[in-house]
Amino acid sequence: MNIKKKLKVPKAYVKQRRDIDGLTNSSGLFTLEGIEQLEVNADKIRRARKRLNANDIIADYYKNYYDKRCLPNDRAEIVRNCFSFALVDYYRLLAIKDIKSVNLCHDKFCINCQNQISLRRFAKYKPFLDELRSYYDIYHIVFTIPNCKDTELKATLDKLTKKFSYLLRFFKGDKKIKGIDFSKYGYVGAIKSLEIVINEKGFLSSYHPHFHCLFALKKGLRIPGSHVNAFSYKRSEIKNDSRNKKPVIFFNDFEILLQKIWYLIFNNIEVNLDSINSLDLGYSVYGSKVYKDYKEVFKYAMKGLYDEKTSTFQYSEQTFETLKDAIHRKKFIQGYGILNKKSFLDDTVEDELDEYYNQRIIALRQIENPMLLKDSIFDIAKAIESNTNIRYISKNRLRTNIDIFAGIKDLDL
Ligand SMILES: [Zn+2]
Repeated sequence: MNIKKKLKVPKAYVKQRRDIDGLTNSSGLFTLEGIEQLEVNADKIRRARKRLNANDIIADYYKNYYDKRCLPNDRAEIVRNCFSFALVDYYRLLAIKDIKSVNLCHDKFCINCQNQISLRRFAKYKPFLDELRSYYDIYHIVFTIPNCKDTELKATLDKLTKKFSYLLRFFKGDKKIKGIDFSKYGYVGAIKSLEIVINEKGFLSSYHPHFHCLFALKKGLRIPGSHVNAFSYKRSEIKNDSRNKKPVIFFNDFEILLQKIWYLIFNNIEVNLDSINSLDLGYSVYGSKVYKDYKEVFKYAMKGLYDEKTSTFQYSEQTFETLKDAIHRKKFIQGYGILNKKSFLDDTVEDELDEYYNQRIIALRQIENPMLLKDSIFDIAKAIESNTNIRYISKNRLRTNIDIFAGIKDLDL
């Protein structure tokens, strides 16, 4: 079955034409109707600007990092100036300003940029995942390992990636375990997303890197088992060694199998029926079927860096440096099999956005030619908040507004 062919392509309006000059609206396709879907929302700008509060600290950390090593680098200034100005097409008669682009730093520590990247990524994957769910069940499976120290983080991340690829070989059938049939799960693809939870205590930080994954497996799997082990209890109860502790999670046979295999792989122990059966407890792995919400997998990878309440970067320079070195050139998210983005992303979503946007822009240009301006984001935010008669629009707004992306507007970090 070719899922890509089965994908329902949202209704296209008019094929996008790059050369928009000289087109007439005789077809009636170029319209200002629905332009409010492009309208920039003051609250979104305010929230984005708030997220940038942390960038000054991050910039200072970058500056120190490169100064200490006598390396010339402009990263600090790029991060400091993220989201500070916009290129704007000004339609004077119509009193409309179209925000064409904003300067972004795309830094892995910039909460604002990471938020944008998550949104875009989710918008690309979501229609495909929704469609895929008609043919397969999608499971959210979390693979964890014990916490590690600063000095171990980089090597641990490398190892995690390598070991996960090894684990997938069992799902793909490239590697077999005598006595265990992996083919019954009907794996067709997965998405793996790295998350690092940081626990900072004085100089002793510990890191909890783990993977949030989506697995597309055979529809209607019935996995038996209801097991209790050390991972079934709340952490606080384990700490207190409470006598009356009650299990809160019950694991099925599949989860127990994955816990053990994941442990064996990670500790370089050969995986076979004997090694699996002789293990009492593996590493914490838990999963559940996803009915509609895949957000966890697309969220920001470094949890806890940013405090929503005070809008500040939470961690010390030392933690920043550890993370910076550890995540250098790391892919936070990766797709496999049918969920490898090369195999399904055909830019349908981007084409949709372009078409919707271009129809309205052509309509605007039929009335007047715009003037290109460079405005500061601060001024734009002030203008929107003080309700001047100028309407601000942006193609980017469509990502969270139009119907095909229904459901992603709640994605916030
Ligand atoms: Zn940024």
